[in-house]
Amino acid sequence: MGERSIAGFARKVHSGEGRPYVERMTATPAFLDSNRPDVPDIVVPRAVLPFHLPGRPVRGRLIRLGPLADALLTRHDNHPTVTGLSGQALALAAALASALKFRGSFSLQAKGDGPVPMLLADCTEAGALRGYARANAERLTTLLAVEPEPPAAALLGGGYLAFTVDQGDDKERHQGIVAIEGESLADMALHYFETSEQLQCSVRLACWRGEHGWRAGALILERIAGEGGIDPELDAAAQDESWRNANALAQTLTDAELLDDGLASEDLLYRLFGLEGVAAQRYRALAYGCRCSRQRLSNILEGFSGDDLDHMSVDGDIIMTCEFCNLDFRFDRSEVRGQDGPAASGSADGASA
Ligand SMILES: [Zn+2]
Repeated sequence: MGERSIAGFARKVHSGEGRPYVERMTATPAFLDSNRPDVPDIVVPRAVLPFHLPGRPVRGRLIRLGPLADALLTRHDNHPTVTGLSGQALALAAALASALKFRGSFSLQAKGDGPVPMLLADCTEAGALRGYARANAERLTTLLAVEPEPPAAALLGGGYLAFTVDQGDDKERHQGIVAIEGESLADMALHYFETSEQLQCSVRLACWRGEHGWRAGALILERIAGEGGIDPELDAAAQDESWRNANALAQTLTDAELLDDGLASEDLLYRLFGLEGVAAQRYRALAYGCRCSRQRLSNILEGFSGDDLDHMSVDGDIIMTCEFCNLDFRFDRSEVRGQDGPAASGSADGASA
């Protein structure tokens, strides 16, 4: 989208707002940097459970990130309110990506004029999940002073919500954009499904920090068209009725149940829908999915002019931060040629030939 959000990378040099370069003290020497940063290697095998209600026009997904939520969310030092919103976005992205029928990724992005101007989460069809939220500390403090537990609407403010399905480099991208409407992130997502996709859905999202760290989960129900798999005895009115029932049952789900590590997802589905029957499908995994790499960042840097690169460099270094996993990558200015050819002067060893 904007030129500043290329693949979620920010240039810390320009966003430091007067903060000194503390990062440099702990920077890894360039020769030790590998292409893949050292990020938590977490896979949660039973994170996504797709299901349907046999004979009725309802299917759904139950998402529970388990310890993955903590690993993803604690990469950032946000206020818990912001972290909670970010966790809900992760669970929602995982839920929507798990419905993809092809190789690709699903991302949701909220851009608003509130104290959290940017919220992003994305997930591949294979379950590689990542996300972040950007907050304005001063405006957040002001909001929290009057509203200690602000809903998503107050955090994000007015703006838009974009849902993007990306099928890879040369394939089509499908993007739906709606104005932010509703109090919670779940309401906002519902508004999108109803207006943009003409889908009847039910969305529950939860995220909190418990004794084992952050947890996040989602329950999505979707009404399917009245054809295959639905009991032929059910006429239109009976189908409406059974959709409403399923919705009502989903509403009885508590955050505590959704985020309880000790309650298996199948058991939770039975608890919710067992009386009328529920068919769970195969579990799918979610994993820590940041896809940043030194090589990719290097490619981005090579697209800048020598002048831009000189502006980005501080004491001969350019530092790029992956906004998803919050890792810094340090490049020696003299290693980056940029569009104009050989690196400009100013590097420690005067590399221009
Ligand atoms: Zn990363």
